Amino acid sequence: SNSARVETLKEIVGRSPRSITYPKTQDGKPKYTSEVFGENVFSLAQMAKALPKPVFASFMKQLRGRQALDRATADAIAHAVRIWAMDRGATHFTHWFQPQTDTTAEKHDAFLSLKSTFTAAGEEVTAIDSFSGSQLLQAEPDASSFPSGGMRSTFEARGYTVWDTTSPMFLQPGPHGTSVLYIPSVFISYNGDALDEKTVLLRSTEQVSKACCELLNLIDPVPLGAQPKYSRVSTTLGTEQEYFLIDRALYAQRPDLKHTGRTLVGNLPPKHQQMEDHYFGRVPSKVMATMSEAELELMRLGVPIKTRHNEVAPQQFELAPIFEEASLAVDHNLLTMDVLAKVAHKNKLKVLFHEKPFKGINGSGKHCNWSMSTDRGENLLDPTVKPETNYRFLLILAAVLHAVHQHGGLLRATIASASNEHRLGAQEAPPGIVSAFLGEHLNEVLNSVEEARPLKNFSKPEIQSIKLGGTVLDVKVATLPAISRDLTDRNRTSPFAFTGNKFEFRAVGSKQSPSFPVTVLNAAVASALQDVSAALRKQMGSKPAPSDADKLAVIRQFITSTKAIRFEGDGYSDAWVEEAERRGLPNIKNCPDAFAQLNDPKHVEMLTKLGIFSRSELSARYHILHERYAKDVLVEANTMRTLLTQQILPSAFEYRANLAQTAALLKGIEGEGESPELVALKAMTPVVKDLQAAIKKLEDSIHNMHVVEGDAVAEAVVANKEVVPAMGEARKHADKLEELTADKFYPIPRYSEILWF
Ligand code: ADP
Ligand code: MG
Repeated sequence: SNSARVETLKEIVGRSPRSITYPKTQDGKPKYTSEVFGENVFSLAQMAKALPKPVFASFMKQLRGRQALDRATADAIAHAVRIWAMDRGATHFTHWFQPQTDTTAEKHDAFLSLKSTFTAAGEEVTAIDSFSGSQLLQAEPDASSFPSGGMRSTFEARGYTVWDTTSPMFLQPGPHGTSVLYIPSVFISYNGDALDEKTVLLRSTEQVSKACCELLNLIDPVPLGAQPKYSRVSTTLGTEQEYFLIDRALYAQRPDLKHTGRTLVGNLPPKHQQMEDHYFGRVPSKVMATMSEAELELMRLGVPIKTRHNEVAPQQFELAPIFEEASLAVDHNLLTMDVLAKVAHKNKLKVLFHEKPFKGINGSGKHCNWSMSTDRGENLLDPTVKPETNYRFLLILAAVLHAVHQHGGLLRATIASASNEHRLGAQEAPPGIVSAFLGEHLNEVLNSVEEARPLKNFSKPEIQSIKLGGTVLDVKVATLPAISRDLTDRNRTSPFAFTGNKFEFRAVGSKQSPSFPVTVLNAAVASALQDVSAALRKQMGSKPAPSDADKLAVIRQFITSTKAIRFEGDGYSDAWVEEAERRGLPNIKNCPDAFAQLNDPKHVEMLTKLGIFSRSELSARYHILHERYAKDVLVEANTMRTLLTQQILPSAFEYRANLAQTAALLKGIEGEGESPELVALKAMTPVVKDLQAAIKKLEDSIHNMHVVEGDAVAEAVVANKEVVPAMGEARKHADKLEELTADKFYPIPRYSEILWF
């Protein structure tokens, strides 16, 4: 019955938001965020303070890749960070790493160790706190249960975590007011193969740097013998994170949400997102309490959270950080998800990162804003005032387009998962066709270059004066500085959109680690930059530097060859699907097809040539992706089967018994003719039968998966072709039944209750 739901709703209504004490200054005012920022981070500045000068200098040399970290330096850092951490309540340390599970992993070790002294009286054991350089550098957590795709055959099954010195160590709260020291790490096998998400990301950023510097130095050469101007380019990443927040007491009554992160049955209430009143609306107080508590903790961890707002769907929200160097940004995104989940729990809420928790309303994405920046802080995708004569910008842009043109299919593979499959192509989400949106002005710049004609005259919006309230106020509304940026509207339908001075990879799922998509994007761009450099070299011949005409010729070459992926229209429309087909663009509709891209020789060659993946790492990943997809679908199918047979059907039976009893009773009183109760009962009958049949079909499809058990690829195909459609069919009938069943008998919280604070 619904009594648990009713009790829960009463409790929720009476609950007030949790309040924490915000850090205060001595005179009792809230501290400035800049004072709180990074308080729990063993930053370079902290390190410089805590370490003897030569040790710090030696560490910096290692960081810049000029020398390996020696044992003495590691020991000194370990000692310094232990004192720093223990002064702040740390009792344990952990190597914190990123297995291929979209989450992070950790195993804590106490600083405690025992020291024996042997005297005439015998052995004396004393407790001491210790942390050595080798413990800092490396650990062998065993961790043999993580997916390895067959990379860890038993005799070499060891997995090692190794400190990633590019990401700072930090403290997270532990139990009872203590804390734990986190050491960001990579996770590799005995043979040095990447078992994680981070190793490949670091390799890819390295390759972007190399390839990009090569091009920059080619465009902007120095006299023979002089140091080249560019030696380091970093990839920058800003991840907009969307999520749902719902009440935990209601969540706990939904086995589907608990086990799969999404609802497997349920109808939308009459009012959901259609009024567009949630988007950018006032944040509900319980949510604000959660958001701000999470933000405070993240600020302390040095995660620069910048924006927060309501998203389109009811109970959907977003936060975004200030962009950072890509691998740090990934660490920070994973921390953000972790902290949000923890803080939501304390607030009796549950955060849902699933891409499609509720059918019929918007799903969640993780827009990956991506660019490249020189070590002087120049953003290489900034078009500046006159993009049409900014050849460096156009060459870099052409390289990115070339990357997407060559490896769009592979990019599509990086965002494929059982959960994101429900989002792509559905409400407000990009389709499975990878195209790039540039905006009207930039598009015209490229077209004019291609057609070797002057740029069309653009009526640039001027800075307008708006008079508010007669003569009282005269505000200048800067529509824009006179650059291409923001001249056109945003195109929300594009999976990969240029947004003024960066690209936004929008197809990335809210739940996934941004690491793999960004790794592949980096790889494709690095490879494309190499192609652009080679073309430019060919064009300039024996000249010491390319002329503007040379650059323009190369730009034109790539603009022309990549034209098929440029699309400015509505990516959600059917017309685009047809148009894309005419252009020969792949429209990859499901996960197994997407994963197959990892086997495509064109992509394999690119990734292996750059040394970002070895062949065996790639085939391991291919295997892991299928395996995970099959497992995800199987968990959903089994959850659904149980939910339907043990809760949904019985509730219908109960209601039917009730109706039947009354109908029989009334027959005696009212005589012949159908009672309204009987009409209602009869209306349910075919739906119940359909549902039963659909459950049978679902069971058959699950069985078919078991038949091919052990072959991950075959399992994934059966999951996709049979299980997913069977679940869709079962849901249809279950949702119809929800409408016919009296609320009193419906066993689980409904959308109308969950999507309402
Ligand atoms: P919008 O996408 O609405 O324009 P912002 O300009 O605030 O919003 O950017 C969204 C995200 O993009 C933020 O995380 C921001 O830090 C990030 N971002 C901005 N510039 C860059 C850049 N050059 N490289 C990577 N990310 C960037
Ligand atoms: Mg957004």
